[in-house]
Amino acid sequence: MEVYEHESRQRVLNCRTIRPCSANEPTYDGSGPLSVIHKQVPGQPFIRPLDWAFYPRLCEIYAWLDELIDRFPKIVTGFNIGRSYEGRLIRGIKISFKSGKKAIFIESNIHAREWITSSAITYVVKEILFSHNRDVRTMAESLDWYIIPVLNVDGFVYSHKKERLWRKSRRPASPDCLGTDLNRNFGFLWGQKQSDPCSTQYAGPHAESEPEIQQLKNFIDSIPDGVLKIYVGLHSAAQCVLTPWTHTKELPEHYEQMMFVARAFAKALATRFGTRYKCGSSANVLSISNRF
Ligand SMILES: [Zn+2]
Repeated sequence: MEVYEHESRQRVLNCRTIRPCSANEPTYDGSGPLSVIHKQVPGQPFIRPLDWAFYPRLCEIYAWLDELIDRFPKIVTGFNIGRSYEGRLIRGIKISFKSGKKAIFIESNIHAREWITSSAITYVVKEILFSHNRDVRTMAESLDWYIIPVLNVDGFVYSHKKERLWRKSRRPASPDCLGTDLNRNFGFLWGQKQSDPCSTQYAGPHAESEPEIQQLKNFIDSIPDGVLKIYVGLHSAAQCVLTPWTHTKELPEHYEQMMFVARAFAKALATRFGTRYKCGSSANVLSISNRF
C-alpha cells in the first residue's frame, strides 16, 4: 500500500527511484554531503544522493534518516511520535553526543508546501554531525537535538504527488473541504481566528483536534521538565525570525535573549547573499492577515 511505502525498511527500498546502500560503499570521510557514501552498482537503480540540489520526497528523507541511524547508532536515535490521519509514521531523530544535555526541538514542513524547510533541516543535521567548524562543533555537541523533518506527512506527500501548493493536513474538515492548518491547531489560545473549514488557515474544530498535533504535544510533554529549552518551527513563507506572540503585541518573557539569537542569525545570513531577514514577535512583524 502506497500509504505505508516508507514504513518499513523493505518498503523504503520499493520507493521507486531509491535503493539501499550497497555493501561496498566507500567510508564517509566527513568532508561532504553524507550521500557521497552512495556508489552506483552496475545493473541496479541509483539512489538520488541527498545533496540539497533537489527537494527529496518523504520516503527519501526517511531512507536518509535510516542511514544516519544505522551508521551512527551511538549518536543518532530514531523515534516516531505516532501516525498521521492517513496512517503514515511521523518520524524524527534525536542527535546526542553526550547524554544529559539541554535540548532543542525543531520541526519543519508543518505546512506541506514549504519544501525548503525539510531540505534546510536535513542540511542542518548534516552540519551537526559532520561540520569541522569549531563553533558548530561546540554547539552541536553541547545540546541534545530532537528533529522532525516532516511533521505534516500527509500534506507533504500530497503536495509532491497532486497539488504542489497544498498547505494543510488531509483529514476531512467538512463535506466540501479537506485539511486543517496544523500550525493553528495547538491548544494555547486556540481558535482566535479562522473557523472556515475551506480556508487554508482553518484552525480545526477544536484545540488539538488533529492527530498530528495531539501526538506532537504528547511527545513534547514526554521530554522531562526543564530539559527542552528551545522549540523552533521552520517555515518558508517570509524572511523573518519570529518569536511569540501572535495574538498580542506584548512581548514575551526572554524576548531580548531570543532577539540576540535572531539578530545573530539574520546578520550571518546577510553576509552570504545580502538576504535581509526581519526579527521580532509575530504580532509586531507580520500584518494581521499574514500571520502564519
Ligand atoms: Zn508555514
